[in-house]
Amino acid sequence: MKKTLSFSLILLLSISFLAQDYWQQQISYKMHIDFDHDNHRFSGIQEITYYNNSPENLDKLFMHLYYNAFQPGSMMDVRSRTIEDPDSRVEDRIANLSKTEIGFQKIESINNSKGEKLSFNEDGTILEITLNKPLKSGKSIKLKVNFNAQVPVQIRRTGRYNKENIAYSMTQWYPKMCEYDKHGWHANPYIGREFYGVWGDFEVNIAIDSSFVLGGTGVVQNPQVVGHGYQDPNKKLKLNSSKKLVWEFKAENVHDFAWAADPDFLHETTKLENGTILHFLHKDDSLNYNWTALRPYAKKCFEYMNEHYGLYPYAQYSVIQGGDGGMEYPMCTLITAEGSMNGLISVTAHEAIHSWFQGLLGTNEAKHEWMDEGFCTYAQYEVLNHLKGRKVINPLLRQYKSYYRLVENGTQEPLSTHADFYKRNYVYGISAYNKGAIFLHQLGYVVGDNVLKKGLKKYINDWKFKHPDPTDFKRIMENISGLELDWYFEQFVETTNTIDYEVFNVEPTNNGTLVTLRRIGDMPMPIDIVIIDKSDNKTSFSIPLRIMRGSKSNDSYLKDFKTLSDWPWVYQYYQFDATVSYDEIKQIAIDPSSRLADVNPENNVWSNNKPTQGNPIIYKNTN
Ligand SMILES: [Zn+2]
Repeated sequence: MKKTLSFSLILLLSISFLAQDYWQQQISYKMHIDFDHDNHRFSGIQEITYYNNSPENLDKLFMHLYYNAFQPGSMMDVRSRTIEDPDSRVEDRIANLSKTEIGFQKIESINNSKGEKLSFNEDGTILEITLNKPLKSGKSIKLKVNFNAQVPVQIRRTGRYNKENIAYSMTQWYPKMCEYDKHGWHANPYIGREFYGVWGDFEVNIAIDSSFVLGGTGVVQNPQVVGHGYQDPNKKLKLNSSKKLVWEFKAENVHDFAWAADPDFLHETTKLENGTILHFLHKDDSLNYNWTALRPYAKKCFEYMNEHYGLYPYAQYSVIQGGDGGMEYPMCTLITAEGSMNGLISVTAHEAIHSWFQGLLGTNEAKHEWMDEGFCTYAQYEVLNHLKGRKVINPLLRQYKSYYRLVENGTQEPLSTHADFYKRNYVYGISAYNKGAIFLHQLGYVVGDNVLKKGLKKYINDWKFKHPDPTDFKRIMENISGLELDWYFEQFVETTNTIDYEVFNVEPTNNGTLVTLRRIGDMPMPIDIVIIDKSDNKTSFSIPLRIMRGSKSNDSYLKDFKTLSDWPWVYQYYQFDATVSYDEIKQIAIDPSSRLADVNPENNVWSNNKPTQGNPIIYKNTN
């Protein structure tokens, strides 16, 4: 009994320590939306309960009013026209919107639970609410927000009647509470990039012309009333003949809510073995065949992710033709459909995988876009490999090449750059998606790919329904690998330093071959090196960095390797005896797996000895 008690006490203490260490705000939205299809407008009543779990008292609250970005002169308009390489989908389109084409969200009133009016200020895409008295730490507040909105002509992501003629792509459509975390408020004016939201629950009732078919975040609560393929075929439909139909959605433990509506949507479903339903909503047109063919791929994608990354926890996921690129939201995605079949599979896989790297791991995408887009891209190509039955050694070769081109043209900015502040769209894209994906793949090179996979699974399990940041991921990877990884995160994320190693010199010795390596780039890395003899036997070595305080123990990309002395990175040269006869050597190559983002891969394979300059200080292996 005593034993149990003390164990419980320890458990309690450690839980309370964890709870003290991490907190996040919480919200529940109940929304009643009345949609006026003729004027592309809607009115809304939001009943919000906001929980202040932070250690501070708050005297203000901030909300996003994204639709206000779609007005001439908005920050998004000016940014889209003045950035060095404007996005061709936006350019000056916002500047040319007429009064009936712009978007707006206009707050009519905000009341607290006593019915008292709260004062507020609309400042472009940010609403600032002044509380009558501070919201104390650990307390909650109820707000009733009345608002009106006009759906903009589609410019990016959200909007009406886009080029694929989807009536309404309803994303960033409601006044959304800004997130407050250990770094403070994130009341970022919207200029067209990333999102960050408060974890919570949504009950959304949408009254809309009964001709529309809807899909979105959450589970439809009145399927027998709305029909359109949501109903249980074994039960009777309760259709009514009124002009408007009220769609009731409910979503728990998500950080955003999106939906789409079109009168011509076809609605099909497929079910995973564990019961999760995948919905597909798309136009009834010549691309129907693609959508039918997509279903088994989407199913396989979810099954693969469930097995290798952790279980998708929601009852449904909807793939909806939204008509503009692809964008992830909790429990749904809005994607373009008018492309190739391969494109449709690839974009669906990418957005579905965001259910893990965005839907479950609510990283601040604006600050750490590489953890969101990069990690998603990494898993996307692994999944596509699986879906297509390919066995490619490095499925991210295209991403590596585009990163090398970025380095070459000299416009690289650190991955830690806030998404809004990249000087060019091009640099943001290559950095967030490709360098972010390389970050993970290359981390597998450092710690061993099996350790990486184990770490990713633990990361998702430990941080689902939360807001992890780079340090949280680093601590898990350090824990699982037993290695210190500060240097890797600092160098690859916070600087634009690059990696370049070469096989510098190879010469015969009495018993074997002396190999000298040289570090040319500023970023140090552990080195895998493989020697192939004339009978095609491989002898593999791994040289850890001293700052790793250890080495990887196995790696499926590098079979039966010998670990050499760790390389103190300040030494530019490193020498080891390869125990393979010089005359027998066919090839010596650094990292045959090509996971190392070496910006000059040509000198990774020994061709000839390089001239020595000066008197190099060489570190010699002693293992
Ligand atoms: Zn993405």
